[in-house]
Amino acid sequence: MNGKATPRVVIVGAGFGGLNAARVLAKAPVRLTVVDRKNHHTFQPLLYQVATAGLSPGEIAAPIRSILRSNKNLEVLMAEVTGFDLDRRVVQTADLDIPYDYLIVAAGARHAYFGHDDWEALAPGLKTIEDALEIRRRVLLAFELAERQAAAGEISAPLNFVVVGAGPTGVELAGTLAEICRHALAHEFRSIDPARAHILLLEGGLRVLPTYPLDLSHSAQEQLRRLGVEVRTSTTVTQIDPGAVHCGDTRFPAAVVLWAAGVAASPLGKKLGTQVDRAGRVLVWPDLSVPNHPEVFVIGDLAALNDEHGKLLPGVAPVAIQQGRFVAKLIRDEVEFGPLPSTPGKSSRPPFHYWDKGSLATIGRAAAVADFGRIHISGFIAWLAWLFVHILFLIGFRNRLLVFIQWAWSYVTYERGARLITGSTYLPGWTAPLSTPANEKAEVLEEIHAGSSK
Ligand SMILES: Cc1cc2nc3c(=O)[nH]c(=O)nc-3n(C[C@H](O)[C@H](O)[C@H](O)COP(=O)(O)OP(=O)(O)OC[C@H]3O[C@@H](n4cnc5c(N)ncnc54)[C@H](O)[C@@H]3O)c2cc1C
Repeated sequence: MNGKATPRVVIVGAGFGGLNAARVLAKAPVRLTVVDRKNHHTFQPLLYQVATAGLSPGEIAAPIRSILRSNKNLEVLMAEVTGFDLDRRVVQTADLDIPYDYLIVAAGARHAYFGHDDWEALAPGLKTIEDALEIRRRVLLAFELAERQAAAGEISAPLNFVVVGAGPTGVELAGTLAEICRHALAHEFRSIDPARAHILLLEGGLRVLPTYPLDLSHSAQEQLRRLGVEVRTSTTVTQIDPGAVHCGDTRFPAAVVLWAAGVAASPLGKKLGTQVDRAGRVLVWPDLSVPNHPEVFVIGDLAALNDEHGKLLPGVAPVAIQQGRFVAKLIRDEVEFGPLPSTPGKSSRPPFHYWDKGSLATIGRAAAVADFGRIHISGFIAWLAWLFVHILFLIGFRNRLLVFIQWAWSYVTYERGARLITGSTYLPGWTAPLSTPANEKAEVLEEIHAGSSK
């Protein structure tokens, strides 16, 4: 092991997978380095609340350094990993090579535009705090621009919000947007009526929440309809222009377009030089290691592994969490007791087994669906279950308390307290950009493009 007394473990990515691996290994006789390009861990299931002004970024994210501060065998490095040299056993960053004896790669996934990367500037996806703030900016700005236009006596452009993709993220964005329009903003404008905004949810497949059982899909669609969302299934987006979404010959005018339609694994997967699937996920062995490199593990959204029925494990937090703990325990046991004897070409390690405790998807206030195997729940009770689970799993007691108070408050008052527009006042495609100078538009588009290439 590199001739050192204490083996060095490097974890790339402090998301759900990496962080849970770190927590187990922090108690093991190893030197641990956690590398992440951000200084914070993001609780992604609540990003849509930041995007829709219900919560502030600090309530769903926490500094990685602070989460792991009590562990003395552990260092945190904020750095973008650019590649790996598996022969030399180093992780590469722009200015530092980090040696390892064991490596856990947990770099996650990002949204994908099916080969239309140019759509990202027009239809942001939701993966990071920055994405959520950009969506919040656009949504709130659309109302402000419409109010100004109407106050100036012009006919205001229709306030259409188009969400592309009716998986869990698209459904919760569309439902919450509808709620904001009908309730939170309802009485605050004088020249426009936010309640007349139109929320359109487009889905290329046959139904919303396609990975959920059929009855829950139908229930979700009905709950969306009651919230005022128009759902169009079997409708594939073929083009996005500033201010419009095209589905074949049909053009939907759109003040804001949000993208929730596809994910691709982190490009770091390909840098491991091993086989990946079409979405860029690394095809791992049953113990989550990489072929021919038992010391390298890939976990979470970046890993492709089938369950015992041959079905690909889903890209959800519980899979990443359980995989993080699983590989950390494997490493800990090997460091403490030595590797199990193995036969060539076959791992002697136990395989990873996912314990599926069920899935929950929220749609809006008191609206959700829950799939607990044979038990399917919809509506208020499902929403309470969703609320409980998400508050329970938030990082840090302070965040749990703050989010609980915020939710209780906004449940009673319908208020959304984080309605700040920060940054530019340019909205792509807005028909009357008013005071936005041309150079600012160019800068914003450049910024968005730079962000999308990360
Ligand atoms: C909007 C949204 C809502 C979701 N809702 C739910 C939900 O309700 N329930 C659920 O179970 N799942 C949900 N998910 C999915 C869940 O968040 C993911 O499955 C989970 O985060 C995967 O964990 P991970 O550790 O693999 O990756 P992530 O949690 O994405 O972490 C990856 C980490 O790697 C870092 N990283 C990436 N590239 C590099 C690099 N080159 N160098 C250094 N660091 C790097 C990132 O900064 C990040 O911290 C949601 C996802 C999103 C985007």
